[in-house]
Amino acid sequence: MRRKIVAGNWKMNTTVSEGVELAKAVLEKSNEVPAEVGLVIAPPFTHLCPVAGVVGGTRIGLSAQNCADHTKGAYTGEVSVDMLKSAGCGYTILGHSERRQYYGETDEKLVEKVKLALEAGLEVILCVGENLEQREAGKHFEVVTAQIENVLFAFSAEDMKKVIVAYEPVWAIGTGKTATAEQAEEIHACIRRVLAGKFGKAVAEETTILYGGSCKPSNAKELFAEEDIDGGLIGGAALKADDFIAIAKSFEC
Ligand code: PEP
Repeated sequence: MRRKIVAGNWKMNTTVSEGVELAKAVLEKSNEVPAEVGLVIAPPFTHLCPVAGVVGGTRIGLSAQNCADHTKGAYTGEVSVDMLKSAGCGYTILGHSERRQYYGETDEKLVEKVKLALEAGLEVILCVGENLEQREAGKHFEVVTAQIENVLFAFSAEDMKKVIVAYEPVWAIGTGKTATAEQAEEIHACIRRVLAGKFGKAVAEETTILYGGSCKPSNAKELFAEEDIDGGLIGGAALKADDFIAIAKSFEC
């Protein structure tokens, strides 16, 4: 059985003390969520140590939002995978569309980052997804397939045990426009077929594929009911503990 996961991407929001309070609120309510649903939060780098103090040793996993593409040295402003591990992270998000769009993150660079993260023992939440222009041109399957091939085909079936894929159509992120359950499901099923073609059916069946893009308590149930949607990567709604927990309670367990 593949894992169901709801992960909160806090992006560049909250001060350290607000982040600690948010983590405490999520932890407090986490017992409302069925045990088989994995919960992960991804605060900004500055919050990782204090938030690890709140969620360390609990069911809530701690994720970074990015990592450096080098292990150490003269890379001012960067944060390495070993730093993330030592801060208490078990996961890192990689390839978020905001990183691709605003910081020039390429698939090539992502191969390096995924490699370093896996070697350090971090699980990777790899984001893929088409933009509006690509969707309107009917290229969404092609774009997402290429992102999966360009990054994940550099890895082994064994590595894939530590990789979670997040399908996040860029036109749905932070816009209030959610992909319909059918639109999301057809891409998730496509991702699973692409993974099966490379790594075999068993690996593809075990891979958790999350949906992200204006997911909220009011639409999570419909999305999570789809066969190939195994949870969500949540942006805006992860900043309110009640909404994040309500989304995590939306599975039919
Ligand atoms: C995200 O950026 O990962 C995301 C899904 O954001 P939102 O839920 O705010 O659309």
